[in-house]
Amino acid sequence: MNLRIPGPTPCPPEVLEAMAGQMINHRGPEFASLQERVLAGVKQVFQTSGDVMILTCAGTGGLEAALVNTLSPGEKVLSASIGAFGDRLASIAEAYGAQVTRKTVEWGRAVEPEQMEAWLRQHPDVTAVLVTHNETSTGVTNPLREIAQLVRRADKLLIVDAVSSMSSIPCPVDEWGLDVVVSGSQKGWMVPPGLSFVSMSERAWSANARARMPRFYLDLAKQKASQEKGQTAWTPAVSVYYGMDAALPLLLRNGLQSVFERHAAGGEHVRRRAKELGLELFADERYASNTVTAVKAPAGRELGPLLKTMRMERNVVFAGGQGKLSGQIFRIGHLGYFSQGDLEGAMDALRQELSAARAPVSA
Ligand SMILES: *Cc1c(COP(=O)(O)O)cnc(C)c1O
Repeated sequence: MNLRIPGPTPCPPEVLEAMAGQMINHRGPEFASLQERVLAGVKQVFQTSGDVMILTCAGTGGLEAALVNTLSPGEKVLSASIGAFGDRLASIAEAYGAQVTRKTVEWGRAVEPEQMEAWLRQHPDVTAVLVTHNETSTGVTNPLREIAQLVRRADKLLIVDAVSSMSSIPCPVDEWGLDVVVSGSQKGWMVPPGLSFVSMSERAWSANARARMPRFYLDLAKQKASQEKGQTAWTPAVSVYYGMDAALPLLLRNGLQSVFERHAAGGEHVRRRAKELGLELFADERYASNTVTAVKAPAGRELGPLLKTMRMERNVVFAGGQGKLSGQIFRIGHLGYFSQGDLEGAMDALRQELSAARAPVSA
């Protein structure tokens, strides 16, 4: 099966084999050195010398951790959302009592730096800004470097969902001055779901000292203290650590730059092939994502049956649209463990399917 969805992504055989390993004492020396290696690799990918906490949870758990460890109920924050995941980040903040000013752009577009500048000017009283680096629901990558510069200049805490970008497209945490950044093992990291990673800058730790949102399982200070003793606060997903331990050397083998280049080439390939098929891309091409491509439903073909046939007869799995885009777009994942051949195979199959004689959809 050619699994072309934006996570969970296929895993290299080395990773799957490593994950079959026997359990160890998670409070013993073997786990301590395992976590040390994984942490060193994760920090290399985050390009940070600051703290990164590893949590056993889905990406959304990492997002929740980012918020509840840095904010207080009633605190005013600005959410700059460009899709379903941006909306989710705002919803989590609201669930914990933050006073969220929700700013949105038309789905398919990015937050332009001028727009962010204007929002920051309109809302000088917010203390934090929430933004998605790579919006997986629309296939758009925000100009995060420029956004971060503006947020930094305005002296706000910047909380970033980098779940589907970190490890696939450039997101240098220290260089860009990102305060809290979240990713998840099942996206570009080439590892099954189960671990989330949250980086914290010095400013983020200062915010943590004041933050009053309730937290227990996701308490990052607790996890940091445990990590310093070679442990985790709670029983970790040991097998997923094994997977990370096998995946990180593969990811870092030829340098991060080569990983970024492979994803850029993959994104370009999929976009070019989609356009050659006469399909329309959903995202503003200036900000098209190199990890996921959103494509509008082909004219005259109903999307549900098309995706089903692709899966059942051509062994290619694409993702549908999320939320209000359901039935309108489909998404092609090209992140993590993929070869150029995987993408060519998927796009060839799509071409064959689109040119196959099918009964037209009745109006
Ligand atoms: C996948 C994803 C998430 C959520 O991850 P889960 O593990 O499903 O909770 C959050 N944000 C973005 C941008 C994602 O792509």
